[in-house]
Order: sequence, then structure tokens, then C-alpha cells
Amino acid sequence: MSVQVVAAKMAEVELKDVPNKELSAVSPVAPKTDEKGLSNTDLNASATSPAVEPAVKGDPSPLSSAPSTAKIPQASAMKRPDPQQNGGEAFVNRDGTVAEAPRMKKIQFADQKQEFNKRPTKIGRRSLSRSISQSSTDSYSSAASYTDSSDDETSPRDKQQKNSKGNGDFCIKNIKQADFGRREIEIAEQEMPALMALRKRAQGEKPLAGAKVVGCTHITAQTAVLMETLSALGAQCRWAACNIYSTQNEVAAALAEGGFSVFAWKGESEDDFWWCIDRCVNLEGWQPNMILDDGGDLTHWIYKKYPNMFKKIKGIVEESVTGVHRLYQLSKAGKLCVPAMNVNDSVTKQKFDNLYCCRESILDGLKRTTDVMFGGKQVVVCGYGEVGKGCCAALKAMGSIVYVTEIDPICALQACMDGFRLVKLNEVIRQVDIVITCTGNKNVVVRENLDRMKNGCIVCNMGHSNTEIDVASLRTPELTWERVRSQVDHVIWPDGKRIVLLAEGRLLNLSCSTVPTFVLSITATTQALALIELYNAPEGRYKQDVYLLPKKMDEYVASLHLPTFDAHLTELTDEQAKYLGLNKNGPFKPNYYRY
Ligand code: NAD
Repeated sequence: MSVQVVAAKMAEVELKDVPNKELSAVSPVAPKTDEKGLSNTDLNASATSPAVEPAVKGDPSPLSSAPSTAKIPQASAMKRPDPQQNGGEAFVNRDGTVAEAPRMKKIQFADQKQEFNKRPTKIGRRSLSRSISQSSTDSYSSAASYTDSSDDETSPRDKQQKNSKGNGDFCIKNIKQADFGRREIEIAEQEMPALMALRKRAQGEKPLAGAKVVGCTHITAQTAVLMETLSALGAQCRWAACNIYSTQNEVAAALAEGGFSVFAWKGESEDDFWWCIDRCVNLEGWQPNMILDDGGDLTHWIYKKYPNMFKKIKGIVEESVTGVHRLYQLSKAGKLCVPAMNVNDSVTKQKFDNLYCCRESILDGLKRTTDVMFGGKQVVVCGYGEVGKGCCAALKAMGSIVYVTEIDPICALQACMDGFRLVKLNEVIRQVDIVITCTGNKNVVVRENLDRMKNGCIVCNMGHSNTEIDVASLRTPELTWERVRSQVDHVIWPDGKRIVLLAEGRLLNLSCSTVPTFVLSITATTQALALIELYNAPEGRYKQDVYLLPKKMDEYVASLHLPTFDAHLTELTDEQAKYLGLNKNGPFKPNYYRY
């Protein structure tokens, strides 16, 4: 059953709240496989990717014109150590290892490696190095756990817990936190309208009936809304966390109480991390047939330990840059044995996650860590891509004086036209109060720049990895590091000058703030649709390759979020549709359109 068939069926149920029924119709799709090997950097160019397009443009079949349906959601969020806690939290080193930060003293760099399968001690659990993929740093969905106040140091693996129905097929911190978690989930539901709409429309119809979804994402309230939606659409779910710090324990408890097999808690060791993943897939009488991954660790684990499982798996849905990259590598090597959907490069994911998410969270991250006032402050933003545009817009709106650096004349011209001064970093480095990197590049801010900054300058990164600021260059004997708050270091020069380094150069918003649930809703809905599509696709529609979601699904995800704003979409007249050469139901833009 393809998405559009499912959509059509669901549409029969209830579609009153669809802003434009025709808009959201999802047409049958046929695979268009690009034989070219794709690198991760190719992904933005949908024209070069094996995007899936409607089989027949303007297909007048009843299915294609049926009001669209709802597909499934996924909300991922990650949370780093609670910024409100003072010191002693863990951090991720440049090399991806996790270490424990010092309190108010010169930083020490823990680098002990964990022997796999060796159970850590209670104290050691948080300071163990972890050779995970960058899954912990490349998903931009974030959510904080405000309620993790438990002092219980007993490992969840050593506890025997059952929910109120006597089910013990889960491993979480504390099942007693379920009520609190339920409230968090209910709050998230209010900002995830598309997922809730999918559930409503699914009444009676179960497009995921028989689906056994194994998931590895951040376990947060938003993910819970996704999981419960998948369940409402007929899927069985088993879930582990894709990040050792991001689990909201109370949410995991609510899910376990609701009957979900969840294996996750905040502050897992590396051994716990893989153990939890293994518990999701390795059990008698249950085999997954769909994978929902964020970072590729789950997929990797199944490839490594249970390759035969792929005989039953119908597809992989992957959210993150890193996970998608790994899938393309597998595909290039001819080792990808099932179809995969690259959700990361969906328009609705990229545009909203990068631009709007950062526009909202940059101020939050800076404020929580430094209490800085933005009005009149001089800020330089390195990189004017989606993330840079979001940061600049937010800071400008707060009355900051914003400078931009760029290497690309097109983005540079955009910055100029948007009213920002385009400069080279060294032209303003002495005068600025805040430096923000958002380039996805490396060594954008180097020691020479750091040496020239003025006393009190705040330095942070919004890009994917912690390579943008050369933090390693600050680890020299003449500089003193002082941890003044969680995620805030003062680096002090011999003459007393201090710079304020946030999150050690890692993603500021992921490390120090939350991101809006509404953005997660968009990503989650895209993931849900991808799952439904892959699960229902007829044999042969998708080959063993990595696919982008068809444009119509992106449009559908967007349409599901419009009612929140009481937005009224204009419908093409027949005459206009003919004039533009479009199907009235979409897609409205070619794959190469840039938005
Ligand atoms: P993008 O490619 O649209 O923009 C990056 C810009 O940086 C480009 O315009 C590029 O020309 C410019 N650039 C590259 N090197 C530079 C240099 N040395 N100096 C100045 N400018 C330079 O990418 P994007 O979508 O804006 O994402 C940027 C980074 O942020 C990526 O690493 C991405 O993974 C990450 N990201 C973060 C979040 C978040 O929540 N913090 C969300 C999405 C993406």
C-alpha cells in the first residue's frame, strides 16, 4: 500500500481540518535511481539524488486527487547536560570522546577509554569515553529534561521494574516518574499538530499495521508523541536512545508505563548504550521490519551483529547528517541491502531545522549561559547559510549590531542586501562582543583571532561539529581555564584578559538550550511519512538505495502545520494551473527549487 493509497484511505475518514485538501494529496511515486555515487555534500542537490517523484504528472486518478492523508511523525530531541547544574557535567571532546568537566579549576582532559562490556562504576559511568558516531552532535532537535531530579545512582540495568500492568519489558531510570513524563508529553502534543492530525485521520485505518519499528533517537517528549502516533497507526515499537545524555527519564517512564519497550536513561555509559540497542533488537519472537535511526548507530549495530535481520527489514529512515552519510557510504560500497529514506535533506527538515530552529534558539543558548544583553552589542556571525541567516535575524531583531563573514559571494550578497556589514573576521575581531560560527567548516576562528579578542568576548559555535573554533589551540600552559558555569569556560590570558567560551565550541543550542517543539513536529512528521511510504511501498518501488522524500510529501508536511496559524492557502484555478503547467494538487515546485 503506497503512501497515496494510504492517504486516500485515511482521507475518507476525516479531513475537515485540512487547509487545502487537494494540496495535500500524495501521488503515487516511482523510484528514480541515480546511478551516480553520492557524497554527503551532494545531498542538497535533490536533482542528483534518487528522489522519488510522482509516477504521472497530473495523474487524474481518484487516488492522486484524494485529500492527503497523514503519515507518521518522529520527533527527536537531544539534550545535553542540564545547563542549570553547576559543573561536574560531561562534555564531548574534539575527538568525540566523552569526559567529565572540572568545577571551577583548570580543565583536565579525561581521556580514559572504556573497555567494552565492562560495567562502569557508578562514579565512572558519566566520565567514560565513548566512541559513538557523531549522532550525539548532529541532530539539531533538542529538548531538555527539567525533571531529572533523582539521586538514585543504581544502574537501571540492576533494577527490576514493572509498569502498572505488570509488564517489565523495558529498562529505564524510574517507572515512578511516569505521571510527570505524561504531562511533558501532553505539553509537547500541543505543539505537534501534524502528528496529532495523523492520529485523528487514522481512525480505523492502520497504515502501519504489522510494522515492527525499532527506533534509536533522542528520547524526549517530542519523540514520545511520535512513538505514540506510530502506535496509533498500527506499529509496534521498541526504542533506544541515540545519545547517552539526551533521554528525558520521566518521558521514558511514561512510555514504559504506556506499554512501550524503551531502553534508555540519561547518563548511559557506552556499554549501556549498546546494551540498550541490543535489547531492542535481540529478543525471541520479535524481529523488526522497519528502522528509524538518528545517527546510524542502530543500523550499524544490526549490520554488525544481526545481518540476517535485513531479510525482513523493509526500510531504514534516517534523520541525521552523519547517519545519512553512512548510508551513502554503504550504498556506494554496494552493501546497502534495503531501501533507505534520507529525511535529513527533505526541504521541510532542512529549512525549518536550520533556519527557524536556530533563529529561535541562538538567543536562548546565549542568554542561559551568559545572561548577556543583546541590545547594542557587536556580534560577528561567520557563515551566512541557513543557520547564519537565522542567527543574524534574531540578533538584529534584538538590537545587536551584526557583522557577517562569508566565503561565498552569493551568500555574502544576501547578507549585504539583508542589511548586514560583510567583513573579514580580523577587521572586527578586536571590537566585537560576541563571535558565532555557523559554517560547517573547520578552523574558522583560530588562536590568532582568539588572541586579539577583547576582554569578555563571548565565543560560540552553532555549526555541526566542534571544529569551527580551534579550541585545542587554547589548551596551552600559559592560558588558564576556569569553569564558571555548566557549559561556560573562562579562558584567561596572562595579562588577565578573559574570553568566554561556550560549550567548548560544540553546538551551542544543543548543548545549552532547547529547540522549539514545533520544529521537531515538522521533522517528526517527515519521518513518519517516510516510514509509511517505505513500509507500504509495493515490491520494487524502492531499490537498495538512499532516497529523498518526494516533493509532494514535503508539501504535505507543511500543509499539515498550516492550521496552527489559521493560514488560508490559495488554490490554483484550472486556468492558472494550466498556465503554470502544474497539477492543482502539487507538487508546486521542481526538485531543484531552492525556497
Ligand atoms: P550552509 O551551507 O547553508 O551555510 C554555511 C555557510 O558558511 C555557507 O554559506 C558557506 O559559504 C559559509 N562558509 C564556509 N566556510 C566559511 C568560512 N571559513 N568563513 C565564512 N563563511 C564560511 O549550512 P547551514 O545549513 O547554515 O549549516 C551550517 C552548520 O550548522 C552545519 O554544520 C550544519 O550541520 C549545522 N546546523 C546546526 C543547527 C543547529 O541547530 N545548531 C541546525 C542545522 C544545521
